[in-house]
Amino acid sequence: MSTLEIEPTVDTSKMQISDEVAIQIADMNKWFGTFHVLRDIDLTVYRGERIVICGPSGSGKSTLIRCINRLEEHQAGQIVVDGTELNSDLKNVDKVRSEVGMVFQHFNLFPHLTVLENCTLAPIWVRKVPRKEAVERAMHFLEKVKIPEQADKYPGQLSGGQQQRVAIARSLCMMPRIMLFDEPTSALDPEMIKEVLDTMIELAEEGMTMICVTHEMGFAQAVANRVIFMADGQIVEQNEPKEFFNNPKSERTKQFLSQII
Ligand code: ADP
Ligand code: MG
Repeated sequence: MSTLEIEPTVDTSKMQISDEVAIQIADMNKWFGTFHVLRDIDLTVYRGERIVICGPSGSGKSTLIRCINRLEEHQAGQIVVDGTELNSDLKNVDKVRSEVGMVFQHFNLFPHLTVLENCTLAPIWVRKVPRKEAVERAMHFLEKVKIPEQADKYPGQLSGGQQQRVAIARSLCMMPRIMLFDEPTSALDPEMIKEVLDTMIELAEEGMTMICVTHEMGFAQAVANRVIFMADGQIVEQNEPKEFFNNPKSERTKQFLSQII
C-alpha cells in the first residue's frame, strides 16, 4: 500500500448517497479493432457515490471511465449519464460532457495560458459565461484548491501538485455534477500526493459524485463507499472498502492486493 497516511477524520456518515442514479452502464462492450477491451460491463452509480476503481495496468480502467464522457466510444450495450444516453447523437455527448468533469494523470493544462486563463477559457468560450463571472468563479475554485495566489502564473511555474489542483479547479469551473479522475496522483512526487488527495477528499465531503481510478489504497479506505476491481476488461469484484480489503473474494483480487499492499 502507499505509505501515504490518510487521517481517519473523514466522517463518511456525513456523505449522502441518494437513490438517484447518476450513471447507468448496462451490458457494455468495447473493442479497439479486434481487441475486446471492455466486456459485459454493468455498473450503476448513485448520486453522491465515491467509487474507486483499481486493477492491473491494461485492465481497461481508463477506457471505462473515458467511455463515460465519450472520449471513447462503446460498441454494444448502454451508457446513460444523468438521464442522457450516450450514442452517436452529438447533442447528447455535449450534454453529458457539460455534466462530467475529468482530471487526468498528466494535468493537460494549456501551457501558454495563465492559471486563471486555464480556468476561464471553457466557461467563457463554450458556456458563454460573462468574463467577470467566469473570473469570479475561477477565483472561487482556485481558493478552494488553495492556490488563489498562483492565478497569474503559467503552469510551467508551478509544482506538479499545484498543477493538478489547477486541473481540478478548471474542471470545477464547468460546474460538473460528476467528476472522473484517472490516476490523478500517479505522476506526482510523493510529497505532493497528499495535497491533491486532500482536495479530492474535500470534494467528496461536499457530496460530489466521483469515480476515481487510483492505487492510493489509503484514499480508497478513507473516502470510497465502493471499490471496484477490474482485470482483463471486466469488473471482477466490487465491495465496500473494508470488506474489499479484508475479505477479497476472487483469486485475481487477492493476487492484486498482495502486490500492492
Ligand atoms: P488501464 O487504464 O487499466 O491501464 P487502458 O484502459 O488504458 O487500461 O487500456 C486497456 C487496454 O486497451 C490495454 O491493453 C491498452 O493497450 C489498450 N488500449 C488502450 N487504448 C487503446 C487505443 N486507443 N487503441 C488500441 N488499444 C488501446
Ligand atoms: Mg489507465
